[in-house]
Amino acid sequence: MEAQLKNIKIEKSKTTKINEVDFDNLAFGSVYSDHMLVCDYKNGAWETPEIMPYQPITLDPAAKIFHYGQSIFEGMKAYKDSSGATWLFRPKNNHKRLNISARRLAIPEIPEEIFMEGLTTLLRLEKDWIPSNPGSSLYIRPFILASGNGFHASPADEYKFIICCAPSGAYFSGKVKVLIEEKYSRSANGGVGYAKAGGNYAGQFYPTQLAVKKGYNQVIWTDDNTHEYIEEAGAMNIFIRINDTLITGPTSDRILDGITRKSILEIAEDEGIQTEVRKITVTEVVRAAKSGALKEMFGAGTAAVVSPISTFGHKGVDYDLPELQDNFASLLKKRITDIQYNRAEDKFGWRYKV
Ligand SMILES: *Cc1c(COP(=O)(O)O)cnc(C)c1O
Repeated sequence: MEAQLKNIKIEKSKTTKINEVDFDNLAFGSVYSDHMLVCDYKNGAWETPEIMPYQPITLDPAAKIFHYGQSIFEGMKAYKDSSGATWLFRPKNNHKRLNISARRLAIPEIPEEIFMEGLTTLLRLEKDWIPSNPGSSLYIRPFILASGNGFHASPADEYKFIICCAPSGAYFSGKVKVLIEEKYSRSANGGVGYAKAGGNYAGQFYPTQLAVKKGYNQVIWTDDNTHEYIEEAGAMNIFIRINDTLITGPTSDRILDGITRKSILEIAEDEGIQTEVRKITVTEVVRAAKSGALKEMFGAGTAAVVSPISTFGHKGVDYDLPELQDNFASLLKKRITDIQYNRAEDKFGWRYKV
């Protein structure tokens, strides 16, 4: 694990797609930069990573990724400040979490050197792809897939670790209307909900489609046993403000340990906002909505940062949230993005220069 990384091989692209990209109208994660990093796991070891032109990869139809969904990913961003310098936000947390996911999916862990040196080398090469428009960033997708083949339902013997980059604008536009889920679950005790495993998201698509048909944007996931405890908002952690207290559920087998979530908790405490990490029930939230004590609900995650919820639906009733002038969501989003984009002092030591 501690081995020094041999020089990463770099094959530069002979052409660039950058002039075809409209940086003022970027969707989320739908155009990709000129290069990608690929690192193969073979014969029981991760090989030296290579940076190459962005291109399709070839896999055997019997590769285990296709049959058993052995794949994990991370989501992070590179930010450009006003002087043109590139920053990451708590990137070693993403590396650690990728390995937590790896362990759960019986995928070999990736050494920190490969992750960090691979990532920073790729980002230095893709510097011009990091947008500087407000709210824009270079979304980074590190992932590992089982490339080894065999129809036997067991872990593959070969894997690919890949990092791709996509210049991206803001994730959601406008406020979000959510439906509290009463039938489907994204995770269960003893399951893989805490891992960023590909299949977790495939399993969310259908219930989300049903919610969209009913006029909602997203699903609020509840516990699989009683559907009474509020757990996550789509693929984001969730925060609920009742009066002046900001509440989020404790991480568990079922709730993903979001880096945005834990950063928001620290910033909120720094702001003197009362925070509580505890289980929160649908009953409590509905009661608070009825009494007027429910002030805010928002999702938190790397892609959207903070995504305010305007309405939640439960058992056929829609509850609107108030439009507050001084809301926690805007304050916390400003503080975290000011750190990310190097617009403010970083007393927490979260920023990482590329
Ligand atoms: C990635 C993810 C989050 C947010 O994690 P961040 O580290 O803040 O990006 C929350 N919930 C789920 C299910 C996720 O996949």
